[in-house]
Amino acid sequence: MISTKMIKMTEGGSAIRAMFEEGARLAALYGRENIYDFSLGNPNIPAPEKVRESILRVTRETDPMELHGYMSNSGYPEVRAKVAASLNRRFGTNFDEGNILMTVGAAGGLNVLLKTLLNPGDEVLVFAPYFLEYGNYVSNFDGVLKAIPANVKGHFQPDAEALRKYITPKTKALILNNPNNPTGVIYTAETIRAIAAVLEEKEAEYGTSIYLISDEPYRELAYDGREVPWLTEFYKNTLVGYSWSKSLSLPGERIGYVVVPSECDDAGLIFDAAVIANRILGFVNAPSLQQRVVAECLEEQADVAAYDKNRKALYAGLTDCGFECVYPDGAFYMWMKTPGDDKEFVERAKKHNILVVPGRSFDCPGYVRIAYCVSYDMIIRSLPAFRALAGEYGLSK
Ligand code: PLP
Repeated sequence: MISTKMIKMTEGGSAIRAMFEEGARLAALYGRENIYDFSLGNPNIPAPEKVRESILRVTRETDPMELHGYMSNSGYPEVRAKVAASLNRRFGTNFDEGNILMTVGAAGGLNVLLKTLLNPGDEVLVFAPYFLEYGNYVSNFDGVLKAIPANVKGHFQPDAEALRKYITPKTKALILNNPNNPTGVIYTAETIRAIAAVLEEKEAEYGTSIYLISDEPYRELAYDGREVPWLTEFYKNTLVGYSWSKSLSLPGERIGYVVVPSECDDAGLIFDAAVIANRILGFVNAPSLQQRVVAECLEEQADVAAYDKNRKALYAGLTDCGFECVYPDGAFYMWMKTPGDDKEFVERAKKHNILVVPGRSFDCPGYVRIAYCVSYDMIIRSLPAFRALAGEYGLSK
């Protein structure tokens, strides 16, 4: 018999993945062009040309034994040094290769950090709505995930005062995801400052270290010139997890990094343990070819203007139908209030060939997430279906 923990997981499944499968089923029945699949955060914009050129050049010009071999579990030192230099240029920090660990995407980085930090029973806080995989990652290491309810009235900015009530002597970390999946909200410097003040106050009260894990796969996806605060500036015990999955449209390549700033409590121990965690979790090291490629593409990014065009068209279309949405500042998700129960809404939407993910999949019922990393054309074609759906709820203008 398999582990009882895994039995529960096979029963629970993932609503997002299930929706993705449903999309494939409906496409086979009605034709791909008649299905409006907004379920998955899989970038639809091609990686920049420089990525392809680098893959070809690196593959051609590097000795194959060197290119495909193992390296230090933390990654190539020269790649880590380039990542550090790029962060220093952008954020005025003072990192070097000793602060950077190359990882298997953001998911790999988060698992490495949680393995490094958690004892069984340690608590990890998140603000709802949040990426539900966090619960699985925390449970991998027998931690306990505690969710702070969504600050609906405060436009989904995390509420530092609510945070205060959730911190206990067992709180080991707070995961913050900015820009946010699923709301598309960018947490402001003011919000971060308030959170940092509460964390510092509670660290002093309990004599503990509470790590702020900044999960940043959407950092580069910010619109209208909006700034995404760099968290190590605000709070000493910040650990950053980044990936190129979204910024360079490389989710399948599994490449990212973790930053462990030197000023963190136990920074040296954390870094050394994280390198071991990377190894013993079975990642061993981040993919060798992709490390070399991203090191050449640190100034590149996918065409955010295309997502911006989608964002504007979808927001205008949905609000014109009478739906209420959060206007997203970042990432590529629209967070829409459902006129009734979110699960029922998703089922009704399916009848119009629209696939969206219920808010309860992000621990926040009453909303749906609409991923607009899709073709502009599909957005425009989907709007009559959304209008018909709105009509069922008596919303359509
Ligand atoms: N964190 C958040 C908030 C995400 O939305 C995702 C992926 O969608 C991840 C982490 C995992 O990213 P990666 O593909 O880099 O592992």
